[in-house]
Amino acid sequence: MTALDLSRLITAAADAIAAHAEELTALDQAIGDGDHGLNMKRGFDAVRAEADVFAAKPMPDALKAIGTKLVMTVGGASGPLFGTLFMALGKEISVEPDRANLTAAFGKAIDAVAARGKSQVGQKTMLDVLRPVHDALAGGRTVAEIADIADAAAEATVQMKALRGRASFLGDRSIGHMDAGARSTALLVRTLAQIIGG
Ligand code: ADP
Ligand code: MG
Ligand code: MG
Repeated sequence: MTALDLSRLITAAADAIAAHAEELTALDQAIGDGDHGLNMKRGFDAVRAEADVFAAKPMPDALKAIGTKLVMTVGGASGPLFGTLFMALGKEISVEPDRANLTAAFGKAIDAVAARGKSQVGQKTMLDVLRPVHDALAGGRTVAEIADIADAAAEATVQMKALRGRASFLGDRSIGHMDAGARSTALLVRTLAQIIGG
């Protein structure tokens, strides 16, 4: 991946989050505190503002720096979790990652998120999209298939009962709404898949 590619990925991710900020906020309004769209937009706007600085770094350093920036700017519960995802990915990824390295690094990064959030699959969080995406990567799925799998995984959180985060305070009343963090994760996956897939 060249610096230009990474810069394009960052810009596309920030654009997608900004374009869907209201939708993410509405999801978080239903079963949380209604700030997820704003949190994510603030963080990804901050990353976009320095896209060229990140893109000039080798991939591992770029991802670690993006993660640190997200921790500092997103806030809420999701900031440290998305930040951990990128920082851990940066720790595990090679300078020129192939699919096998990316898959292994992504798996370890998800483990780091789960450790940080004391959470696991099935609790109606971003992990419910991250894991299926990892499994699809490991299973050799195409980028287009992976984007669809991410959307379906976010959709599948609708019927789950939240066991982590603010939505868990609602108990059974969290059922029937999509998890905001799962939706933003699927959005990022589709955006990155579109760029990588050409
Ligand atoms: P806050 O809940 O602090 O307002 P956000 O609204 O930005 O933060 O983010 C909420 C999202 O963070 C949830 O939709 C969920 O996907 C994710 N999340 C919250 N707590 C956890 C956790 N312990 N583990 C994994 N993901 C979590
Ligand atoms: Mg919130
Ligand atoms: Mg909040």
